[in-house]
Amino acid sequence: MKQKFLVILSIIFTLSATSLVIIQVYQTRQSAAISDNMFNINVSNAMDATISQLNENFKNNASYSIDYHTLDSLITDELLVNGIDFTPYVGIVNASMDEFLYCSVAGKEGLLLDSPFKFSFTPPTFNDTESIYIVLAFSSAALFLLQSTRIYVYMSIFLILIIFISFSLTLKIILNQRKLDEMKTDFISNMTHEIKTPIATIRLACEMLMDNTISNDSNTRNNFINIINDENRRMQVLIETILQNAKMSNKNFSISRKEINLNDTINEVVKGFSISIANRRGVIDTHLLSSPSTIFADGLHITNLIYNLIDNAIKYSIDSPRINITTEDTADYVVLRIADHGIGISKEDQKHIFEKFYRVSTGNIHNVKGFGIGLNYVSQVVSLHQGKIAIESELGKGSTFIISLPKGSIA
Ligand code: ADP
Repeated sequence: MKQKFLVILSIIFTLSATSLVIIQVYQTRQSAAISDNMFNINVSNAMDATISQLNENFKNNASYSIDYHTLDSLITDELLVNGIDFTPYVGIVNASMDEFLYCSVAGKEGLLLDSPFKFSFTPPTFNDTESIYIVLAFSSAALFLLQSTRIYVYMSIFLILIIFISFSLTLKIILNQRKLDEMKTDFISNMTHEIKTPIATIRLACEMLMDNTISNDSNTRNNFINIINDENRRMQVLIETILQNAKMSNKNFSISRKEINLNDTINEVVKGFSISIANRRGVIDTHLLSSPSTIFADGLHITNLIYNLIDNAIKYSIDSPRINITTEDTADYVVLRIADHGIGISKEDQKHIFEKFYRVSTGNIHNVKGFGIGLNYVSQVVSLHQGKIAIESELGKGSTFIISLPKGSIA
């Protein structure tokens, strides 16, 4: 799916969903206002009918006195006639509104006094000071049911939000999938390049060795043999890294540990870089202070880890690489530091460089070939050893990778 199409699709979806929500909210408010009005009108009609009935009673019987219980059920009946099927709280209050003559449910006086439904009634035989107020109030449950249309609207807003979230998640999955596809394509093309280059170099060196006029000189011959050796090792670690990385994706993957001497392993790997570092007129300084530098680890993976970090330190140095490698002891760990004065890594990229296939966007900074799996492999090796990895880096100044590996044996 094209990026542009996805963007247009998301814009259309977002606009439609937002419009739907706005329409629904507007409709809710409208329908709530209408049902409020209808309710008020129906209550007024019911009370008009009740008061007419009272007046009629007074007219027919001069000695008629109001029985509040009868009035209460009269009101409920009139409300029912007007389509309101809820029993209200009924209060009869004196003219100055400071004394309840009747309250249908004890404790609801406060609610009744705050109610907007107050109807004044003066019996024909009484004077104004003897008029009463008939006050009605409804329980909040009844009022909520009255607004039942709101429930459907809220539900539809909720459903729209769920659709919106599902759409965003689907879009995120599609974008991630696309990113992964691009990364895989990059990976394959980089891998082809990385493997083709040493093969071509080895072929060239072999051709030179086969040429008697050149290979008779022992210095030149040794040089070509070293080149073959160097490129061969490079390919070996490359293939090893790819294979081990694939194996590590398997949940059942485990390492096989034994006691190894970290300083010796470092010296071994550094020796392997002597030619490529000399070719770039660089230098690798080692200050291996850890003693004894014994760790209980998988020798193969620790060798590959150190190889990857030194290889990166060389690759990502523009000028002659200057690399410092140190080891030191802390109470529980042997700490290995590999520092370079290369191009450095921005704070933002530092958050991602340990992710699989992640490569800092090349831009103008560098166009070094790679797979983006080296550091992911390194971090997996560290975590399989219950170790810690950290990075200190500044753009243009260089990077230091700090690996802490637990000392001694682990049960
Ligand atoms: P790659 O095969 O691209 O080198 P890595 O996983 O080894 O893959 O490294 C991931 C990215 O981290 C690299 O693309 C590079 O941009 C950055 N990086 C790694 N090591 C260094 C370093 N020493 N200096 C600067 N950038 C580095």
